[in-house]
Amino acid sequence: MADKFDVIVIGAGPGGYVAAIRAAQLGLKTACVEKWIGKDGKTSHGGTCLNVGCIPSKALLEASHKFVEAKHDFDDMGIQAGDVSMDVEKMMARKDTIVKNLTGGIAGLFKANGVTAIDGTGKVTGDKQVEVTDPDGKATTYEADNIVVAAGSVPVDIPPTPLTEDLIVDSTGALEFQEAPKRLGVIGAGVIGLELGSVWSRLGSEVTVLEAMDDFLPMVDGTIAKETQKLLKKQGLDIKLGARVTGSEVKGSEVVVQYADAKGEQEVTFDKLIVCVGRKPYTQGVIGDGVGVELDERGFISVDDRCHTSVPNVYAIGDCVRGPMLAHKASEEGIMVADIIAGHKAEMNYDAIPSVIYTFPEVAWVGMTEQDAKAAGIEVKTGAFPFAASGRAMANNATEGQAKVITDAETDRILGMHIVGQHAGEMIAQGVIAMEFGSSAEDLALSCYAHPTMSEAVHEAALAVEGHAIHMANRKKRK
Ligand code: FAD
Ligand code: NAD
Repeated sequence: MADKFDVIVIGAGPGGYVAAIRAAQLGLKTACVEKWIGKDGKTSHGGTCLNVGCIPSKALLEASHKFVEAKHDFDDMGIQAGDVSMDVEKMMARKDTIVKNLTGGIAGLFKANGVTAIDGTGKVTGDKQVEVTDPDGKATTYEADNIVVAAGSVPVDIPPTPLTEDLIVDSTGALEFQEAPKRLGVIGAGVIGLELGSVWSRLGSEVTVLEAMDDFLPMVDGTIAKETQKLLKKQGLDIKLGARVTGSEVKGSEVVVQYADAKGEQEVTFDKLIVCVGRKPYTQGVIGDGVGVELDERGFISVDDRCHTSVPNVYAIGDCVRGPMLAHKASEEGIMVADIIAGHKAEMNYDAIPSVIYTFPEVAWVGMTEQDAKAAGIEVKTGAFPFAASGRAMANNATEGQAKVITDAETDRILGMHIVGQHAGEMIAQGVIAMEFGSSAEDLALSCYAHPTMSEAVHEAALAVEGHAIHMANRKKRK
């Protein structure tokens, strides 16, 4: 038996590395096991988020957005940029440098906080035992009073479109294209489909998105989703709803995709196809036989609202457990679990987890949609404000979108905030904080917002709940 720890965390994604750092900060002897091998052949920390998820995708989204601005929008401001072109190789190299710096940074944070980094594949072999097989195949068993499983998730694949080396790819493959494909197919109009579809559309691809459901972004408030769909269509994304993919065939350097929609069987040919139809928990080999950690019917590790598994002292967090598959949700669970292990009281408010889609403009939301609230039998009031009426949005050349606040009509308590607009992802923190503090729309309306800011739209939307918006004509009569 090798070293004994207070806590061993399996997986160094945003769930695991945050849990490990917090546990060490609280005085617990902590180790974190990671098996990810980076492009340099060495262990890479940061999980999906830093290696092939949040960060590399945002690097490409930002670069491609700046390209579009320089090519099409600078002229409006009087800037003559001349011939603008994109060096995809350089864009990718920048993305890889950011990934390398951030993943390398985690190793530095582990050192600074006294977390022992163990390279290899971890397996829970008992309620207080973790076996690690290192990259050379040597197995070592460690003892730990507490174990945190943070093994993450992997993309879902579907039988009609098996992945190929480079024609039919998942999100990881779509972060590595060396040029914009002429005709790009995307299966799934979810978060990844819209973000990566946007990247390559901005760089010149004709993008067709095939989405099985009839509704577009059903988790987003109906008004905001509708406006988003319209804006993305205007940008050139051809989003086909109610299109169920039934098969595919690789023909030379092309992929022919068959799908069925309301009109019947259809066929479309692409130069590349991205399959992004969701992610599934990754638990393969992480839990040894007979340990007793239970999985649910969808393959997630079963946990309660404080991330305890069915085995005492074994916790599970992040994408491998129920709830939204988001980096910040995984990290918050990591902090909660470390606090619990250290003997502190801790809980999470799962009703106030924000989501952001980093298209342009961004879509961001927290809490209920108007439709959800009504379906739950709550009488609601709403207020909305369009960025077209915002001075800052005009100055920014970003007048598309709106902010919407949904409240309980009886108490004025904020139930949800949904925004489509430039910097929506930054603005949504106001909704999160308001909901965490149980604020009313009046609380926001009575707060002093800096002028001119995009956030003033949130202020005006809160004022509009009672028909008191200043910078637009109110639909409701003032009392
Ligand atoms: P992961 O990040 O998946 O990390 C799990 C880690 O565990 C991995 O490093 C894995 O190698 C390791 N591991 C697994 N099994 C073992 C084992 N047996 N032994 C040792 N190590 C093991 N979320 C956002 O919030 N915002 C975004 O903008 C965003 N963008 C995304 C873009 C893309 C293209 C993708 C694919 C995802 C994106 N996500 C985003 C989702 C986000 O990446 C995940 O929700 C997040 O990474 C989950 O964190 P985690 O720690 O639970 O798991
Ligand atoms: P998703 O669940 O967001 O979207 C998948 C879409 O594919 C759904 O709309 C679904 O109806 C559709 N679909 C499923 N099967 C289909 C089929 N056979 N044919 C056509 N459409 C089909 O999943 P994703 O976009 O793959 O993202 C995975 C996870 O990663 C999400 O949970 C998301 O939270 C996370 N993520 C987050 C961000 C972010 O926070 N900005 C970015 C990327 C990914």
